[in-house]
Amino acid sequence: MFGIWGHHKAAEITYYGLHALQHRGQDGAGVAVSDGSTLKLHRGLDLVNDVFKDASFPELNGHAAIGHVRYGKKAEDEIDSVQPLLFRSQTGSMALALVGSIMNAYELKGELEEDGSILQTSSDTEILAHLIKRSKKETTEEAIIEALQKVTGAYAFLMLKEDRMYVALDPKGIRPLSIGKLGSGYVIASETCAFDLIGASFEREVSPGELLTINNTGVTSTYFSSGETRRICGMEYVYLSRPDSDLNYVNVHTSRKEMGIELAKEAPAEADVVTGVPDSSISAAIGYAEQSGIPYEMGVIKNRYIGRTFIQPSQELREQGVKMKLSPVRGIVEGKRVVMIDDSIVRGTTSRRIVKMIKDAGAKEVHVRIASPPIESPCYYGIDMSTREELIAANYSVDEICKQIGADSVAYLSTKGLEKAIIKKRTASQGICNACMTGNYPVLHQKEKNKSCMQ
Ligand code: 5GP
Ligand code: SF4
Ligand code: MG
Repeated sequence: MFGIWGHHKAAEITYYGLHALQHRGQDGAGVAVSDGSTLKLHRGLDLVNDVFKDASFPELNGHAAIGHVRYGKKAEDEIDSVQPLLFRSQTGSMALALVGSIMNAYELKGELEEDGSILQTSSDTEILAHLIKRSKKETTEEAIIEALQKVTGAYAFLMLKEDRMYVALDPKGIRPLSIGKLGSGYVIASETCAFDLIGASFEREVSPGELLTINNTGVTSTYFSSGETRRICGMEYVYLSRPDSDLNYVNVHTSRKEMGIELAKEAPAEADVVTGVPDSSISAAIGYAEQSGIPYEMGVIKNRYIGRTFIQPSQELREQGVKMKLSPVRGIVEGKRVVMIDDSIVRGTTSRRIVKMIKDAGAKEVHVRIASPPIESPCYYGIDMSTREELIAANYSVDEICKQIGADSVAYLSTKGLEKAIIKKRTASQGICNACMTGNYPVLHQKEKNKSCMQ
């Protein structure tokens, strides 16, 4: 998600911002822009570059814009749910974008429909739009606060009106969201790498439960929820974010490297080389090598023209994707005992393929080390990590996983090790969300609530 206020090329800058955030979603992209009196929208079901290939930026003129890249949930890939969503009315229009998930969407949708609202998409974002629109409150700000107080979830939220922009972060700050400055204007992004690309400077993190209003007189801040400790998503550091981003004041590469260092302390291996699965586990592999004294080598290389394997719709395509994407470097692994670092195991597809690939290339032994704890529970906060049935660690022990992926040994980073790599002095009073690894959900889903009632 990206937003900008106070720049004459707002839509174009948003396009560049979304480029930097492309890794966060490849299934669609959109930009809504305001010229002070009208909102315009341009969106498509494709990569940022393709969606804006035929866009005319002079036509999308305006001083403010919000943009979004879509991380598709299966079967709802229609253009109508590509964000931002734009709602027009006689009293003014609004464009909304949300990253994350509204967990009580089903209940809220029921209430809205009972009240006569007709929802057109399956998107959580539309629910928020209706809640805001139906509010009897006097100001939009009050209406947003009322709506957000009805919502349970983990989200970063942007809303653009003709003459102002609103920015909000969920009460536990599970999703990342930063604010920066570009000249006299303001920029908002899920990751700070978007600021670097457009030459903006980082100002601060948006706080949990905070609602910012940005207009031509500047930024004002208020809270729709307060007093909660931040629990930023651990997987953002493990896998999702770009290494050059700083999330919650901690650099992602540095934190990944520390995961590797901790992993080497917790789970040493007797080996000749350390290698990582590009790109997301390279930082952890460097850390593991540094700590263990075993040299880091590029044992696996990546075809850079193929997208992220995980985000393919079917298992069949995913398996094919891995084959097309990664190749072993025979000269590096042949005859060697290899430590193979990956950032995470979800279904086990990547690890199984890579172990086989490295062994086929002549490696004597392959010791798999995973720079995060086993993923055993689903994520309800907007990361599509699939169901329990598909999660290999939810169904098999580490020994069984080792056999299944054909490795000589397997070990994971501990939850303590992960926390140590993410929580720093400045954030010492905070925690992280590690619900997919521990089942300890910072915001309870109805299903988990029922379960804990029964216990
Ligand atoms: P698996 O192949 O075990 O199903 O998934 C783990 C691999 O997919 C890792 O190499 C990781 O880098 C990559 N991956 C891609 N998308 C995601 C995601 O959203 N979450 C996690 N944990 N890993 C992902
Ligand atoms: Fe992130 Fe996992 Fe928490 Fe989801 S459950 S927000 S992926 S740490
Ligand atoms: Mg990977």
